[in-house]
Amino acid sequence: MRECGLSEEEVFSILAEKKAEDLSHCSILSSMCTLPHPVAVRAHILFLETNLGDPGLFPGTAEIEQRLVGLFGALYHLPGAAGYASSGGTESNIQALRIAKARRSVERPNVVVPASSHFSFEKACRMLGLEMRTAPLGADLRMDPAATEVLIDDATVGLVGVVGTTEYGMVDPIPALARLAEEHDLFFHVDAAFGGLVVPFLPDPAPFDFALAGVSSIAVDPHKMGMSTIPAGCLLVRDRDVLDLLNVDTPYLTVKQEYTLAGTRPGAPVVGAWAVLEHLGREGMRAVVAGCMENTRRLIEGLEAFGVERAATPDVNVATFRTASAPPGWRVSFTRRGDMRIVCMPHVTGDVIERFLVDAEAHYV
Ligand code: PLP
Repeated sequence: MRECGLSEEEVFSILAEKKAEDLSHCSILSSMCTLPHPVAVRAHILFLETNLGDPGLFPGTAEIEQRLVGLFGALYHLPGAAGYASSGGTESNIQALRIAKARRSVERPNVVVPASSHFSFEKACRMLGLEMRTAPLGADLRMDPAATEVLIDDATVGLVGVVGTTEYGMVDPIPALARLAEEHDLFFHVDAAFGGLVVPFLPDPAPFDFALAGVSSIAVDPHKMGMSTIPAGCLLVRDRDVLDLLNVDTPYLTVKQEYTLAGTRPGAPVVGAWAVLEHLGREGMRAVVAGCMENTRRLIEGLEAFGVERAATPDVNVATFRTASAPPGWRVSFTRRGDMRIVCMPHVTGDVIERFLVDAEAHYV
């Protein structure tokens, strides 16, 4: 650290230079995050200094966090669902597996996750000393319930299904998995980090939420399709008591116990998340999702017209293609199988897709 500080101008000139090195969202087609909605930015700035880690000091912010939980509970057919705002899908998934492990005391516990699950489950299992059993996918790239059941034994404490897989945008057969969870008394966590703010707004939504008796918890990330500022995730649980399994004493805070993973937690993105969803309502979210799905279809049909085959017909706005090369100047990603992957987030507008298709024609044809 410097002995004598820089002037504010000097600091901001360095920052401006570094910011200019970051990519512009116009060319980013690989991210599940997007530009924050202006309402989220405004709310974020207003609550910049708030800390949900000590909620007694910020009761207004804490109330908005519970309103966000209530909003998701109602959206997921369980208005009384409990939960809290996390830093994102990784934290929510870790916490869900902590609950699954704490709920049952068995030697060498294991959890069953789909082969398509996000790498956060690998982190969670390593941290928690859980064996991660990977269930194969069917030809449709969705978790295969029959193959999943084979992996369940007396030491299985948790089951995971995904709504909107990271790589191919598929929704697992949650009703069949929920039945398995009930039959085997498993904590069933639905990772809807991405699809949790897409599927409910589709014209014919696949069932995935607390309306299914076997679903124990749901992860959803407002900082993905919810257009909040980063970081904003949410973990919801059917049964409030399971959160208490994670409690530790917090002697010097305004609350005496805490089940969250992080201590200090920013209120700003949480308030931003709630503000956007309140502002848009279901009607507004349906419009956002319809636009992203339309752009996904247009992209798939457009590239197929140039002879680039789709790798899957996705359930959510993630398009994948059987090609290992992308038109220059665009930031796409590639799946573990080597397919090109494009996430049609809200910042990937119809105009962006058309510009990409012009470059794609020159590249592929
Ligand atoms: N779960 C799914 C399905 C995801 O797609 C992602 C990230 O893309 C995560 C979890 C992890 O979310 P985060 O990066 O916000 O921790």
